[in-house]
Amino acid sequence: MLVAGNWKMNNGLEASLGLTSEIKGILNDEKRNQASVVLIPPFISLSAMHKLLSGNDISLGAQNMHEQLNGAYTGEISATMLQSVGCSYVLIGHSERRQYFGENNALLNKKLHSALSHGLIPIYCVGESLAEREEGSFWEILAAQITEGMAGLDPSIEGEKVVIAYEHVWAIGTGKTASAAQAQEVHAFIRQTVANSFGEDLAASIRILYGGSVKPDNAESLFSQPDIDGGLIGGAALNSRDFCNIVHAAS
Ligand code: PEP
Repeated sequence: MLVAGNWKMNNGLEASLGLTSEIKGILNDEKRNQASVVLIPPFISLSAMHKLLSGNDISLGAQNMHEQLNGAYTGEISATMLQSVGCSYVLIGHSERRQYFGENNALLNKKLHSALSHGLIPIYCVGESLAEREEGSFWEILAAQITEGMAGLDPSIEGEKVVIAYEHVWAIGTGKTASAAQAQEVHAFIRQTVANSFGEDLAASIRILYGGSVKPDNAESLFSQPDIDGGLIGGAALNSRDFCNIVHAAS
């Protein structure tokens, strides 16, 4: 099980360090057979959080990266730069990047390969909007997000080297959650699509996270579904107690 907290554009340096200390303290005090935990703050906090987390098994992730390693790309950050500040995970194609920054499957495929070739674990995000769900076209959209966005992935790659996060985009930040059965149905479809495109071995071992208003009180029923391997948490990741309770639900 893996629980990743995406802080989005929230928390400056001081607030990031405060929240990290709280989470580290709670998880250390309430140690259980714990799920893997990834904190995904804004870029500016990565380096200092890396120092604060030294010796701890909480991992760090970034919210985005550029597909090139360096060059004249003002304002961008590359895979090797993320590595240099202690990142081991990176979100690729979060729905907000697709929606507000026009990122499409072809671009995200380049980012995914750049992350993989430079030792980062991509958390590749897929999901449908409300309109797509209501039109009924969302199965095709999801399948294309997987086959196009992950095209060229080596089927013999170890399952833990790549993560998929499925988000009902209509459920992000709205407080609306899919029922556990609704989420499971889509996760099973995603696993089958991975099996068809990249083989049964990868499909069996890849972690597929659920995202979309996961909270302490719905986490356990979501995480108990056979094809849900953890969560990508937005709003609830900004509160240390809520986030740690979600981690416990996955443990
Ligand atoms: C997200 O944006 O990845 C997310 C899951 O947000 P929330 O938990 O707030 O719905």
